[in-house]
Amino acid sequence: MEDLEELADQIKTCTLCDLHKNRTKAVPGEGPENADIMLIGEAPGYHEDQQGRPFVGNAGNILTDLLESAGLNRDEVFIGNVIKCRPPENRDPTEEEIKTCSPYLKKQIRNIKPKLIISLGRFAARLLSNRSVKISKEHGQLKDMEYGGWSCKLFISYHPAAALYGADARNKLEKDFEELKDTIQNLNNFKTTEQKTF
Ligand code: SF4
Repeated sequence: MEDLEELADQIKTCTLCDLHKNRTKAVPGEGPENADIMLIGEAPGYHEDQQGRPFVGNAGNILTDLLESAGLNRDEVFIGNVIKCRPPENRDPTEEEIKTCSPYLKKQIRNIKPKLIISLGRFAARLLSNRSVKISKEHGQLKDMEYGGWSCKLFISYHPAAALYGADARNKLEKDFEELKDTIQNLNNFKTTEQKTF
């Protein structure tokens, strides 16, 4: 299987779905190959598309603050998205686009082998849980997950962009990441499993 760098090169030149037609830069994601924690959002926005980097706009600044509040530095986690190219006008990705792009995320997860994945928003929570998720009910909870042949823990939260639209969402995100601090202290006790075939 390709390593993270090879996957990033494939993503940057990918033409598998129509989203490649309007992108400025694809956004493979970034972070260490051996990160214990991955954060997965929805799709690149305007600033991410311009720079080819995940979570670099206002929502990115919020994410950096949230990570710091949980005792984490951006450099020590892998940050990526379900979809690697920006949907026009930031529309929701389609089921077809998610299906077409998902092998990249699966391979990234199998390369990194995280102990914990933090889903940011409903698209990531749904894809990684393989079921519909009501974020307002399940945020701040730790679940077991299996995706692409990798089993680990999943922590569900809101997309940081939600905090741009109201104090209520910001408060919920801050509380989730506060709880994450305790979760992270147990990281070494989390069990992971890899299926050889999936
Ligand atoms: S969104 Fe994914 S599948 Fe579509 S062109 Fe970009 S990298 Fe390829």
